[in-house]
Amino acid sequence: MRIAVVGSGYVGLVSGTCFADLGHEVVLIDNDESKLAALRRGEVPIHEKFLPELLARHRGQKIRFSNDLRAAARDSQAVFIAVGTPPTETGDADLSYVESVAREISGAMDEYTVIVEKSTVPVFTSQWIRTIILRNGAAPAAFDVASNPEFLREGTAVSDFLYPDRIVVGVENERCAEVLRHIYAPLTDGSYYRRADAIPRPDRAPASPPRLIVTSARSAELIKHASNAFLAMKISFVNAVATICESVGANVQQVCDGIGTDSRIGPRFLNPGIGYGGSCFPKDLMAFRAVARECGYDFRLLDEVIRINEEQRHRFLRKVRGVLWTLRGKRLAVLGLAFKGGTDDIRESPAILLVQELLREGCRVSAYDPAAMPRAQEVLNSSVEFTQDPYDAATGADALLILTEWEEFAVLDLARLRKLLKYPIVIDGRNLYDPATMAAQGFTYHSVGRPAALTGDLPAGIRADKGGPA
Ligand code: NAD
Repeated sequence: MRIAVVGSGYVGLVSGTCFADLGHEVVLIDNDESKLAALRRGEVPIHEKFLPELLARHRGQKIRFSNDLRAAARDSQAVFIAVGTPPTETGDADLSYVESVAREISGAMDEYTVIVEKSTVPVFTSQWIRTIILRNGAAPAAFDVASNPEFLREGTAVSDFLYPDRIVVGVENERCAEVLRHIYAPLTDGSYYRRADAIPRPDRAPASPPRLIVTSARSAELIKHASNAFLAMKISFVNAVATICESVGANVQQVCDGIGTDSRIGPRFLNPGIGYGGSCFPKDLMAFRAVARECGYDFRLLDEVIRINEEQRHRFLRKVRGVLWTLRGKRLAVLGLAFKGGTDDIRESPAILLVQELLREGCRVSAYDPAAMPRAQEVLNSSVEFTQDPYDAATGADALLILTEWEEFAVLDLARLRKLLKYPIVIDGRNLYDPATMAAQGFTYHSVGRPAALTGDLPAGIRADKGGPA
């Protein structure tokens, strides 16, 4: 099929590239000329595994880049809208980018076209898109609007797109559903997975092809908000449990193993840490909260999820203060700036927020992240020293803080690290290490929801996270 994808960011670029890998002809649209120029030069503006390979495979063949939205809409059987939907001051989603796309394509649909919202949007948006397109002169029979929420996660976006748990399409009629079934057929009929050049199946991928779930547009819009709110709730729940574990001296990892083996709960997303961030959970929770408010429902559970998430960051900062006593003038090594491992995205990153807080408290910070440093340099002031690798960051530091769960941070050369640090203190916001191993390697090690591993001349029973020395 001929597909236009409007917005060539994390979602649009990945979706469009994967559509090309499924065999469709794709034009990727953006209004950011510098991004388009970079893409045309063969650069890949975001850090995502497999994206460079797929772009190289299809650039100039099945993928074109353009800023001409109207021409693309005229030539395409389906137009996917994947522009940003940032929060407004009140927490509602700002839908002005979506609206401007709808307005612009309204006069350009000569043949039947399906407009697909892939951006995360509040319930009723598809209805609004239809209204805007009609107001701007399109014939009612010339188009349909569908909702096809995207569940990919940054860091594993390409694999998530090609090996999804399910595909949700919200439509109002069978003709429109048929177009979307056709687009996703190589995944739902399994033919993509039999190809020799298919992107490799990730370990956690379901064994059978994904189910295409057809719903009303409103249900599809709610599925996306409800999914993200539920996942964020799982994270805040386990972080609250971690707090109790710290108070009673239990180990949250053991607790999570115990509850995660219950098939009704499941082990995934039970990772305590410094809280969720990124461009989706924080804004989608606020938007879902606003939707509920407009419907007359006071969804206070979501307020609590957000509160626990913010508190988790403050608790971590208190832990750092508890371990180091005073912060002013201390030099801290920070590993990780991205909001999660595998991505260069720092939007709403708890790591960035923590570094900013440490700077405000008078710390000096040397930081390393495998992908996010160029973006971090744009928001962190010049007092942060960006280093070549984790060991450079650690050299001479009073303590090492792990703030993002990059795989490479879980396999550091501990003996080398201990020698480089001024004091062998590691405060791990992502629980990447086993406390007993760290103690055996001579570290004072603090993590989230697990007893600290204290070495050296510490009186038994004194816990840094309770305000005593470490
Ligand atoms: P992004 O900021 O990375 O990309 C948006 C792109 O749209 C930018 O390149 C921007 O230049 C372009 N754009 C904006 N207005 C435009 C217009 N009028 N015409 C053409 N291009 C335009 O955003 P993203 O992270 O890809 O998110 C896009 C949407 O997908 C959001 O609603 C988000 O909530 C949702 N989503 C994101 C993720 C994720 O992990 N990032 C996952 C699922 C859903």
